Amino acid sequence: QQHRRAFMIMSGRLHARGTERVHKNVWLEFARLAADYKAVNLGQGFPDFSPPEFVQDAFCKAVSGGHQMHQYTRPFGHPPLVHILAKFFGRIVGREIDPLEDVLVTVGAYQALFCAFQALIEEGDEVIIVEPFFDCYQPMVKKAGGKPVYVPLRPVSGDGSAVPSSGDWVLSPEELASKFTPRTKAVVINTPNNPLGKVYKTEELQVIADLCIKHDVLCISDEVYEWLTYDGNKHVKIAGLPGMWERTVTIGSAGKTFSATGWKVGWAIGSEQIIQRLKAMHQMSVFDCATAAQEAVARGFEREYELFGTPESYFQQLPAMLHQKREKLASCLGGAGLQPVMPEGGYFMIADTSSVTVDFSDFMSTDDEPHDFRFVKWLIKEKGLATIPVSAFYSPEHRKDFDKYIRFCFIKEDSTLDAADDILRTFSQRQ
Ligand code: PMP
Ligand code: GLN
Repeated sequence: QQHRRAFMIMSGRLHARGTERVHKNVWLEFARLAADYKAVNLGQGFPDFSPPEFVQDAFCKAVSGGHQMHQYTRPFGHPPLVHILAKFFGRIVGREIDPLEDVLVTVGAYQALFCAFQALIEEGDEVIIVEPFFDCYQPMVKKAGGKPVYVPLRPVSGDGSAVPSSGDWVLSPEELASKFTPRTKAVVINTPNNPLGKVYKTEELQVIADLCIKHDVLCISDEVYEWLTYDGNKHVKIAGLPGMWERTVTIGSAGKTFSATGWKVGWAIGSEQIIQRLKAMHQMSVFDCATAAQEAVARGFEREYELFGTPESYFQQLPAMLHQKREKLASCLGGAGLQPVMPEGGYFMIADTSSVTVDFSDFMSTDDEPHDFRFVKWLIKEKGLATIPVSAFYSPEHRKDFDKYIRFCFIKEDSTLDAADDILRTFSQRQ
């Protein structure tokens, strides 16, 4: 009783913007459902196989490499890691990157995003977010006091003969331009995009860059899937376009780079003026990241620097392997009547559920729940296959327009994809 009363008195004091809806997170909800129903899991994005041996060995070596590997390292990034990141990315964007000033190591790309929004966005600032977007951008912008302004990629309809591709989803330059106001502080892009797999072409990035320069706006570019592109599509860094280095934060992830999402090593790269502000947020939140994991990632990048562009490079081998898995999944989905949108990059594929009719009537679900959320719940509970509803990657105002797609993750063992195929085959025998 006393506890309850104390809580009632306190609860008014507990209010703080953006902290009340933690249970509403799509990853928590669907990871739990997938586990409860022991579903074949093509939901949350992570490999169900080990990272390559060279980084596993590097991690083991780090752990048995003496006392220093078990103690704090340089707060803004372990020296070998910031040096090789600066060297690697400097070579790609064709400029000198200062390892100590222009690079910040974070707890995964997730913390780099958090630092970027907290450091750069102020009360009342508008932030243009391209939809579909990785779901955390919206609450992070809001928590920083910013106002998200959404602009969707829209599928341009072809003549129906070609296989739909993520490349068909484009930004309207006019619609994008119309979103800029004097309050616009930043634009957020994600290439290759999660969940769609779109890899922005140079011309598309140039449109965004021109607007950023014209309106003196920052660009936060989430490039965690940068090494994963298919069919000759090339990942282009917007920071490398003229006039963009000074105003862009580029965010990356060792989790995606080396198939080790549990290591939670990420980074932000940009001009000293921007990165020092992110460093302030980092200092206030985590101060220092795990030493041994950074050491292993540094060794991985050093190896890749030497092998870059050769067939032995993991940055060649991983996309080659994923290309096959992409084909496999696309053919399973096609066979089940779930028309896939072929991703040009990343490790997700979205598919259209429209032609699969499901009777949800005796199925627990609220009426206002988007179609894809119901579909995914049905798929997990009735069919034992876990995926993610795509409308979770949209703003409330556009969610209804994009609720027929669900997302499949294909960075999975072939046996997992086969198990999914077995389930999907039952679809062709109709519900
Ligand atoms: N951005 C995107 C687009 C992602 O898909 C992810 C994956 N969770 C992240 C950022 C966060 O990456 P990390 O696991 O390195 O924190
Ligand atoms: N990036 C991964 C995905 O999109 C993981 C997301 C998460 O765990 N927050 O599935």
